[in-house]
Amino acid sequence: MATIGIDVGGGSIKGALVNEENQIVKQCTRVNRINRSSEEMAEDMADIIRELTQDGPAEAVGIGLPGTVDDEAGVVVYTPNVGFRKYDLRAALKEMTGYEVHLINDANAAAFAESQIGAAQGAESVVVVTLGTGIGGGVVIGGKLLTGYTGAASELGHMVIVKDGEPCGCGRKGCFEAYASATALVRMAKKAMAEHPESMMNELAEKDGKVGARTAFEAYDAGDPTAVSVVNEYLDWLAEGLANLINIFFPEVIALSGGIANRGESLIKALEERVYPRTHGSAYALKRTKLAICSLGYESGMIGAALYAKSVME
Ligand SMILES: [Zn+2]
Repeated sequence: MATIGIDVGGGSIKGALVNEENQIVKQCTRVNRINRSSEEMAEDMADIIRELTQDGPAEAVGIGLPGTVDDEAGVVVYTPNVGFRKYDLRAALKEMTGYEVHLINDANAAAFAESQIGAAQGAESVVVVTLGTGIGGGVVIGGKLLTGYTGAASELGHMVIVKDGEPCGCGRKGCFEAYASATALVRMAKKAMAEHPESMMNELAEKDGKVGARTAFEAYDAGDPTAVSVVNEYLDWLAEGLANLINIFFPEVIALSGGIANRGESLIKALEERVYPRTHGSAYALKRTKLAICSLGYESGMIGAALYAKSVME
């Protein structure tokens, strides 16, 4: 029987019907925005469940949310960007649809999907790191998600790598996210552009009307010396954090996702050179963590939520 996976984001709520071969057979989306009420969002999810079960019932329903969830209680504890605060989503959806839903953090859902059927398929221990506006992540150990005491584990982006460093959205300073997210790369690029008006990045930014991670990478590819030093600095920071994660978890695979991961093999190569010398005992290790790019794209959140719901039913 098919399973439903729903991925709640700030801009949309996406649902997918996933068959027993783990393929998406039907999808539907509702527009979402910041500051809607919990009830409105729950109604959208109920709508999605009804639409996806028109041709027959689902075995399980999993919902991925951008924040902290307590799946035992069925409660969305806190989502910083969409407005859930201690909301009993399971009770609400049970009443509206009859389904007992399961809740999972969205980054954990993506990590679970990549570990089951994506870039890290077959690996028992996997760390997924999402390089976007912030840094998200998920950790799978022995085939199981690491969720921690309150369900809030695996906030990989908020590991401090510089004491009293750059301010972070979480309130601390010097987090990995403040040095290795796409936002951090843009900050470094802007600073270098002001100091080096001759840099090609200034020209590219004017053409695009904004400075993005792409501005730095495009100029880097063209050999612009300022961009080369910005990107190298960024890669060094990213490597510091990834090496810490390897030293803590020693996973079989670390898989990267998010816009910057679209750099693909050239990113992996640049990181391998930087990460391995920083990992503990690497000179003597017979095996080492494989660095990879996630393969499921935006579908990973929906597929992961569906696979998670199925896994807790079994
Ligand atoms: Zn932080």
